[in-house]
Amino acid sequence: MADATNPSLWERAGAVLPGGVNSPVRSFRGVGGEPFFVRAGHGPTLETVDGREFLDYVMGYGPLILGHAHPAVVKAVESQAQRGLSYGAPTAAEVEMAERLTAAIPAMEMLRMVNSGTEATMSALRVARGVTGRRRVLKFAGSYHGHHDSLLIKAGSGAATLGVPDSAGVPADIASLTLTAPYNDIEALKEAFRVHGSEIAAVIAEPVAGNMSTVPPVPGFLETIRELTEAHGALWVSDEVMTGFRVNFGTAAEARGLTPDLVTLAKVVGAGMPVGVYGGRRAYMGLVAPLGPVYQAGTFSGNALAMAAGLAQLGVVSQPAFYPTLIERTRTLAEGLVERGRRHGIALSINQAGAMFGLFFRETPPKNFDEVAGSDVERYRRYFHGMLERGVFMPPSPFETAFPSWAHSDGDIEKTLRAADEVFRTL
Ligand SMILES: *Cc1c(COP(=O)(O)O)cnc(C)c1O
Repeated sequence: MADATNPSLWERAGAVLPGGVNSPVRSFRGVGGEPFFVRAGHGPTLETVDGREFLDYVMGYGPLILGHAHPAVVKAVESQAQRGLSYGAPTAAEVEMAERLTAAIPAMEMLRMVNSGTEATMSALRVARGVTGRRRVLKFAGSYHGHHDSLLIKAGSGAATLGVPDSAGVPADIASLTLTAPYNDIEALKEAFRVHGSEIAAVIAEPVAGNMSTVPPVPGFLETIRELTEAHGALWVSDEVMTGFRVNFGTAAEARGLTPDLVTLAKVVGAGMPVGVYGGRRAYMGLVAPLGPVYQAGTFSGNALAMAAGLAQLGVVSQPAFYPTLIERTRTLAEGLVERGRRHGIALSINQAGAMFGLFFRETPPKNFDEVAGSDVERYRRYFHGMLERGVFMPPSPFETAFPSWAHSDGDIEKTLRAADEVFRTL
């Protein structure tokens, strides 16, 4: 027990880390209460330092599609660690990673490895501005593309507006270069291009939004992005940091028959190691240093441990039965949750895309940020804590996506649905 002379980990954390954490969502501010501290993860399960166990549907916020400590990934990392962690010189693994990704993603003819999704989108926008010589970018409200200045901006509701910063420390001058429109709003998108078309360097979009919980694109939305960017000489950056190898093998945009100009990846391709990727048409990537004038570099880029982990994970997910099986299990869980909720008279809806889903306390599945925000978020909080008490760790915010993994068995799904049934009864 914590006292003045023997503070708890959470008290120690709060004294030396802002909010006790290294990334805000981990603080549980979205649901209230104190977060747990992790000791280990195995398969679908997290073990805490105080001896509790949780069935984990957060999975590192997406990367761990095979579950925790998958033997193939652990073995690859151990074997690489014996031979060194980082070289600052080319390795065969980097070439192999780039060959695998370019083979799986035709839109990515050439790519550069970086260390996070944030770095990937930041660099992709730099390339887009370098290619077009233009200043403005367009993003969608409720989409998260990382925490750099140009993209830490959301829209007000309604039509497209000029960006205002979401964070102190982002100069209004920089924010004003970012246009925003509501996700899935084709008319607002057209209006943004009608007014600013000649100034827009890039449209950056999640092909399935995953940072306002899960919101798939309505028919015509991504197609309109493709048409308008092409017509106006802007680039389409498909931010697949979350969706890449999560919704399907490769990118969600290409699975819908669309070809973006630039693609960003991270999360699943790093298997839990810090990784990001940006790439696209050879003509564009040929502008990146040392070939061209768009500068970008990184001490750890293409890091040996990260390449080993990512390659091992990609090897497993490339087996033909992988996505159909995982997606079917995700569907069993998602539809089961709706069914259990309805049994208890609770208005509940689900958006599923591949192996990710969002649960909403509202009658119909939301199509944009305002609709997600308009769901019963207080009820989500009670659902979260009810599930946690029953040994299931769901996303600690109504705006985060849930991630089933390969390690979740049919029995785990059943256990989750039984817990949900009990929780819904109390809501
Ligand atoms: C997580 C995420 C990012 C940021 O990636 P980090 O590795 O956290 O910097 C960017 N875009 C999308 C779509 C994401 O889900």
